Amino acid sequence: MRIGVFVCHCGRNIAGVVDIDEVVSYASSLDNVVIAKDDRYLCSSSGQQEVANAIKEYNLDAVVIAACSPRMHEQLFRKTIEEAGINPYMLEVANIREQCSWVHTAGEATQKAKALVRMAVAKAKHLKPLEKIQIEITPKVLVIGGGVAGIQASLDLAEQGFEVYLVEKQPSIGGHMAMLDKTFPTMDCSICILGPKMVEAWRHERIHVFTYSEVEEVSGYVGNFKVKIRKKARFVTDACTGCGVCATLCPVEVPNEFEMGLANRKAIYIPFPQAVPLQYTIDAEHCLGCGMCSDVCSASAIDFFQQDKIVEIDVGTIIVATGYELYDVKKLSEYGYGRFKDVITSLEFERLVNAAGPTGGKIIRLSDGKEPKRIAFIQCVGSRSERAKKYCSGICCMYTLKHTMQIKEKNPETEVYVFYMDIRAVGKGYEEFYWKARDSGVNFVRGRPARIYEEDGKLRVVAEDTLLGKPLEYEFDMVVLAPAIIPAENDKLRQMLAIPADKDGFLMEAHAKLRPVEAPISGIFIAGCAHSPKDIPSTVAQASAAASRAAALMAKRKLEIDPITAYVIPELCFGCNLCKEVCDFNAIDMAWGKAYVKPNCTGCGACAAACPTNAMQIGCFTDVQILAQVSEAFDFDDEKPRVLAFLCNWCSYAGADAAGLARLKYPVNVKAIRVMCSARVDPVFVIKAFLSGADGVIVAGCHLGDCHYMTGNYKAKRRMEKLQALMEQFGVRKERLLLTWISASEGEKFAKVVTDFVEKLKSLPDIDDEIRNLVRMSQEVENEVSLKERNSL
Ligand code: FAD
Repeated sequence: MRIGVFVCHCGRNIAGVVDIDEVVSYASSLDNVVIAKDDRYLCSSSGQQEVANAIKEYNLDAVVIAACSPRMHEQLFRKTIEEAGINPYMLEVANIREQCSWVHTAGEATQKAKALVRMAVAKAKHLKPLEKIQIEITPKVLVIGGGVAGIQASLDLAEQGFEVYLVEKQPSIGGHMAMLDKTFPTMDCSICILGPKMVEAWRHERIHVFTYSEVEEVSGYVGNFKVKIRKKARFVTDACTGCGVCATLCPVEVPNEFEMGLANRKAIYIPFPQAVPLQYTIDAEHCLGCGMCSDVCSASAIDFFQQDKIVEIDVGTIIVATGYELYDVKKLSEYGYGRFKDVITSLEFERLVNAAGPTGGKIIRLSDGKEPKRIAFIQCVGSRSERAKKYCSGICCMYTLKHTMQIKEKNPETEVYVFYMDIRAVGKGYEEFYWKARDSGVNFVRGRPARIYEEDGKLRVVAEDTLLGKPLEYEFDMVVLAPAIIPAENDKLRQMLAIPADKDGFLMEAHAKLRPVEAPISGIFIAGCAHSPKDIPSTVAQASAAASRAAALMAKRKLEIDPITAYVIPELCFGCNLCKEVCDFNAIDMAWGKAYVKPNCTGCGACAAACPTNAMQIGCFTDVQILAQVSEAFDFDDEKPRVLAFLCNWCSYAGADAAGLARLKYPVNVKAIRVMCSARVDPVFVIKAFLSGADGVIVAGCHLGDCHYMTGNYKAKRRMEKLQALMEQFGVRKERLLLTWISASEGEKFAKVVTDFVEKLKSLPDIDDEIRNLVRMSQEVENEVSLKERNSL
């Protein structure tokens, strides 16, 4: 095996901390390395050319790139080496930026970079060429969420000739935009611009709209997702003409959700007059079953015996556009929402000011129906707050400016105050919009109110004007709160799709800068406020971007996917069935007494860790390759305690990278080995790690319930807990093995976990006393434990 090692400076990002010459010289001394070089930016075209030239000049079989995280440019380097004539899977990346130069100081970082290169070379020696897997792509797409994002994405894709299934949980599509009165900064009527799009989506021959429906189950993989949709019983059939006679006679009245509870609706209802479809729904929770609606329905559309229906569809891609909700401002009791009738939320204000809303567009106090003469708007209610949500909700400043102008337009005499922390007006025409509000006589007070109380029918707002440095008290007739924008409550769906949440609970993208509309799961895309708080222009732009990424994928009709999947070495397999039993994806079957792997394998590696004869292996993550990394992780003069961490690709490895991005320092004696899923970690790897010099081992995966491979992390948990029990039984301290869950956004947690673990290990006696026990335990695990017991490990 002829290996080339290429060390990247990444400008000063790596070279500013790591002694590149020392790393290059060390790499050249390693077995099988025939050339070691450095470059300022390996990802630049000249850097890639350098690699390609060296492959030809030195007749290389495999390449090690020591640079940024493999999550960043692994695909790029695979392409580079493929173009230079070697198999793209003959590549290993040593992460000497996110997990080295960005988290350690000079000197120690150089030592760690050398170790990471040594581990990568050890793995590269065992790399094998792999063939890409070709799969057919179903040219159909599932769009989840029928707000403006979902509607826009559906229309874009249908126009390009793809079949679209648009699933919305409410009885009508439209989302929050349908509830808005006017839209900043142009002040168009919201439903006037959204309504035609809703109708267009409904009428489009290639868009199948499922309202009052939810996604029940998703299986499969990019190009071939199988989806079950639950169409909830509306108790009103498609024969409904939307005439509304039923609702006029219905005796039941309940708060109307669309009107934010400011008006009532009947138990048989349409959410709003422009609803699409214009089809009534019976709210089964409140219906008395009197049958009056059925008696008067001339279309005979009422069906009290209707049942939920499960519809099964096959799609190639999925777009998630499930939008947002508002933070529950009752939790911030100092503002009195829920106690004082005239303290309302911004979305309630939208309905109040809307000509089709509960007051016909008249801005009145809810307590006495009188026109308010002095109105306060309070910004950042729950946003930018240590007590609630730390992030900025992005759109509140702008919609509040819109609200103030709407008041001034309707009644210029009204005194309007905005209590703000900073005014954030970033967008085309937004700054001008702000100045327009100022010029119309709106008062701006910099400071977050501390308390609101009611006295003599007036609301008294206690706030500090931070520009004047003075605590003040103001009197108002009405107060409008701008609650934080939070992601729609969709944990079940998120887990079904295996999309991680970011630290604020929004859906996480594959790469914040380079793949902002793709989920980390191939074939799944994200649009609108499901991703982060956004205004309508950005939502629409992101929806079109997601649609175009999905279309680009489906247009190929065939897709080549990475062969990082399971394969069987037939000579070693004796058909014990354990791999089949452990597989969540039904991707393994038996033929002629041997296992074989089907194309829907996801490559999690749970089967390989369970296989008692090492017959099951994972491309790019074979036992031999991982064990080679393990045995090269430590030098005997490395500082103690030494820690080896097995990190799953999607969450905990990304979490370690996030620690790097945030430049969080943690002890240098922690080295990571990337696996696709924590379920890939064979207990043998852990034991070998101890025998190779580790004082402690970390196995980290996605949070329980968030695994990208359904229950992979539960399998890891079960195995590692058994292993800990075995360690105790053999006289090895079980505290040396740490099992933990770290998400892709939890850089801080990663740094803390490893720091604390190193401290904990320091408090334990030297591992030397336990080595003999470890050797005995290793022999037991390797040779004597029965097949079944081995599986439960
Ligand atoms: P949403 O509108 O929230 O739509 C998401 C849809 O997904 C909903 O219909 C929901 O029912 C559905 N859904 C959720 N979960 C599921 C599920 N599991 N299965 C199926 N369906 C599901 N922006 C502007 O540009 N100009 C303005 O003037 C403006 N004013 C605003 C005023 C207020 C008070 C607020 C709060 C926001 C305002 N915005 C404004 C922002 C605007 O509302 C958003 O940009 C826009 O609505 C985002 O659209 P969306 O499709 O991403 O999300």
